[in-house]
Amino acid sequence: MKLAAVLWVVFISQFSFALDREAFTFTKYDLHVQIEPDQQRLSARGTIVLRNDSKTPQKNAALQLSSSLTWRSIQGDGKPLQFVSQNYTSDVDHTGELSEAIVTLPIEVGSGNSVELTIGYEGTIALDSTRLTRIGMAKESAVHTDWDQISRRSSAVRGAGNVVWYPVAMDAANLSEEGSLFQILGRWKVRESTAVMRITLRYSPTNEGKPPDLICDADDNRMFEAAGVQIVSAECDFSPLGFQAPSFVMADYAVLDSQQLEVFYREEHKERAEKFVQAAAAVAPFVTDWLGASRRKALVAELFDPGAAPFESGLMLLTPLGDTDPKLLQIAMVHELTHAAFSSDRPWIFEGLAHFMQATYREQQQNREAALEFLGLHSAAVMDAEKIHASKSNEPAPTDQSLVATANEEFYRSKAAYVWWMLRDMLGDEAMKKALSAYRVDQDKDPSYTQHLMEAQSKRDLQWFFDDWVYYDRGLPDFHVESAFARKASQDNFLVTVTVENLGPAGAEVPVKVQFEGGEMTQRVEVRGKAKATVRVGTPKAPKQIVVNDGSVPESDLSNNTFKVAAAAQ
Ligand SMILES: [Zn+2]
Repeated sequence: MKLAAVLWVVFISQFSFALDREAFTFTKYDLHVQIEPDQQRLSARGTIVLRNDSKTPQKNAALQLSSSLTWRSIQGDGKPLQFVSQNYTSDVDHTGELSEAIVTLPIEVGSGNSVELTIGYEGTIALDSTRLTRIGMAKESAVHTDWDQISRRSSAVRGAGNVVWYPVAMDAANLSEEGSLFQILGRWKVRESTAVMRITLRYSPTNEGKPPDLICDADDNRMFEAAGVQIVSAECDFSPLGFQAPSFVMADYAVLDSQQLEVFYREEHKERAEKFVQAAAAVAPFVTDWLGASRRKALVAELFDPGAAPFESGLMLLTPLGDTDPKLLQIAMVHELTHAAFSSDRPWIFEGLAHFMQATYREQQQNREAALEFLGLHSAAVMDAEKIHASKSNEPAPTDQSLVATANEEFYRSKAAYVWWMLRDMLGDEAMKKALSAYRVDQDKDPSYTQHLMEAQSKRDLQWFFDDWVYYDRGLPDFHVESAFARKASQDNFLVTVTVENLGPAGAEVPVKVQFEGGEMTQRVEVRGKAKATVRVGTPKAPKQIVVNDGSVPESDLSNNTFKVAAAAQ
């Protein structure tokens, strides 16, 4: 009886612990990864540091890799640690499954404390789109989305979210549940954003002639060829990791090196690579005018699958080199050159500004309307993201979708693009350019840093704007014209008084357009959230119709923005 009780206790303590997969943040990676393209293999060894960010001490840690990789060893304090390997279904990897090691740590790790582990793992990374085909996507399209693989001809592997080729730990993500993957991955990215990650990639060239290029998306990416040793290696330093998905490509590339751009391409696509270089050269003066001279080069590497979906991380763009229209290429290059010219560790600034610059370039190419149309490509994403978010937030207003904290691309790309555009409309080009040129990545310690730069140049109070759009996610505005009264001010002039009401919670400065026979006049008005504001507009003829918002402010409802003016009183 007594023995049974003891056994029972042992049994419980061994197997019924509640594993908290997200207890640990991985603060440091130092990995050496050997790639064998002929075998589609990689093998890795190195150290990782895990910090217990949960409130309770942890005796176990979960370490996850792609299911096509296998754990070989896990050590702590120089001694092998016990671990149980299991498959764990999750869509953060292209195979839809992870190799999870549940490690028994040498000692219980207290809240806030760290443990260093020495690890080894290996396996293959082959083309695999299981996570997409099992939710019904046709294989032919799925492989153009999940194109990652190591292979003799060309290798391209993206990080967690596509291929878990370095250890992570998160709860299961499920692509058939709306928002699940982005939520799980987003939470991981936020936790990992300050991690220090150093990865040395290497391979031993087997053939005669020029060995294949090996490139990663780290800022400081160098390749060494040790003479006689027959090893090619790339030092990839992601410190801090930010929201990057550590990725690498390896293929027999030719290289075009221009002032703005390095293009790694297949020999037969020389002309297409040259078009990229020409497009970058054409947009360089525009980017320099806004952001100053670039100190780094953008990097483009060709994906061999002509149908592959392009992917960008940091300064690297992975894309098939198609026969693209030069005008479209220029817009794409504005994005890449913006990254090269302007660094920020804040995704809403780094990515948002790059999308904003593309819209601004569209304006220069054509006009404001074309720019707003381009920006409009982001509007559905913003509206959907706000809707999903609003439907899920029964709790008090969450701050995790604020631009300063979000890991959601719809927010830090699409919504941020609009925020930069609205700021530019409010401040004007000159003040905006001055504020941007004063930005220093190493001084951006506080979220309000950017606000203060903008305020210093514009002499305007922007606290309310940053509160509504950047520091908190207050949703979107919803403008409508509450009333408009026109009167004849003089012989040839009318004065129309327009009251705009904002039914939404976020404020904005919005253009109000008064249309009359043969023309229109536009004036801007600042309308705070759940508030009204009045603007007076002079017109040479009787006003007929008023339209609030030209599309430059994202809105939850655009169907109520037009107002017919009653016949003007004489
Ligand atoms: Zn980008």
